Amino acid sequence: MELRDLPAVDELLRDARLAGEPHGLAVAAARDALAAARAAILAGQEPGDLAAAAAAALAAARAARLRRAVNATGVIVHTNLGRAPLAAAALARVAEIGAGYSNLEYDTASGARGSRQDHVAPILRRLTGAEGALVVNNCAAAVLLALAALAEGREVVVSRGELVEIGDGFRIPDVLVRSGARLVEVGTTNRTRAADYEQAIGPDTAVLLRVHPSNYRIVGFTERPSLGELADVARRHRLPLVEDLGSGMLLPFGDEPTAGAALAAGADLVCFSGDKLLGGPQAGIVVGRTDLVERLRRHPLQRALRADKLTLAALEGTLGLYLDPERALCEVPVLRMLGEDVAVVRARAERLAAAAGGEVVETVARAGGGALPLAELPSFACAVEGSLAEALRLGDPPVVGVVRDGRCLLDCRTITDAEADLVAAAVLAARTAGP
Ligand SMILES: *Cc1c(COP(=O)(O)O)cnc(C)c1O
Repeated sequence: MELRDLPAVDELLRDARLAGEPHGLAVAAARDALAAARAAILAGQEPGDLAAAAAAALAAARAARLRRAVNATGVIVHTNLGRAPLAAAALARVAEIGAGYSNLEYDTASGARGSRQDHVAPILRRLTGAEGALVVNNCAAAVLLALAALAEGREVVVSRGELVEIGDGFRIPDVLVRSGARLVEVGTTNRTRAADYEQAIGPDTAVLLRVHPSNYRIVGFTERPSLGELADVARRHRLPLVEDLGSGMLLPFGDEPTAGAALAAGADLVCFSGDKLLGGPQAGIVVGRTDLVERLRRHPLQRALRADKLTLAALEGTLGLYLDPERALCEVPVLRMLGEDVAVVRARAERLAAAAGGEVVETVARAGGGALPLAELPSFACAVEGSLAEALRLGDPPVVGVVRDGRCLLDCRTITDAEADLVAAAVLAARTAGP
């Protein structure tokens, strides 16, 4: 075909595969197909079926970009793969609240304006023993808001061993600066004592900050005051002690502290994530002393950082499961994956290997999300050819495994039984498609 043989856009639009489509979309798709055909001809190639190419371009424009994926990495809270899958109860609440109007900021008793913070605060208080609670968009926002509300223009004392980067550039010292507070570093990377905090306290000190070493551990010659010791220092100087817990569980697991335990040990405010080990939607939760929570609530940044109604609905749905811990362990996907008996994981890997033509191998799964960095969860994977990894990623839905020693490991702790069938079909399809 020559360039002059290419059809006009209008001519392409009359093809049955494009007729009946919205005009703007069809024109853009036809132009894309023509541009590709022109490039092909100039490169000495045949452009192929232009209407088919245009129909494919149109389908691509319609296709969702944010898509579900299968997490076969064995990392339970995988930030790149969307962190916590939601429980059915949480999804049901999102569907109910999202489909219509709600009492988001309406007090049905008085018929007057209410606060969106009033809905999940009671259950958060019950689950953590806190006096007050507040929810914002994520934990980074919670820390920012806490420091802005309590320490703007003043000093925040923090240990050098806790000036952490959580991931993708979220650095505690940077957040501190943005909050308008001044950072006062105490101690050393590996050792900080309660007395170090005490000596750093001056007339300008507003907050003692403790940051949970979420994604690392300092081991060897180390020292870190207990939360209780730090709380004593804070109390003596009448300063609030704020703990950034990061993951923050509500039920005890491994050495990950619960929010309730942090409050009981003397923290005045505790910040934690909704979508890490809690297993709910992305959210930043602050629990603690009523007067401090109230200062956060009244700060102008609260308005900018607040959570939306879908988040609050999903969070309330998730927290409701925690009222019955047995139920939470079964129905909150993150907790189920964390606690699943390794024999069950192994049986899933065996089924998958049999269906997909792979080999069962022993692996180590991880909590992820910067939580329990040293915890090794025994797991099993189905190992298939490493050459299939790319095709699996590009499939629908994408299946993301881990390539190791030339093989693609599909870890079965982070996939469900239903997903195992999907993965088996995806492996067979990838193998048939060939390289
Ligand atoms: C993950 C983490 C954060 C950030 O939480 P997001 O909900 O992702 O904003 C803050 N602090 C610590 C200690 C963390 O582990």
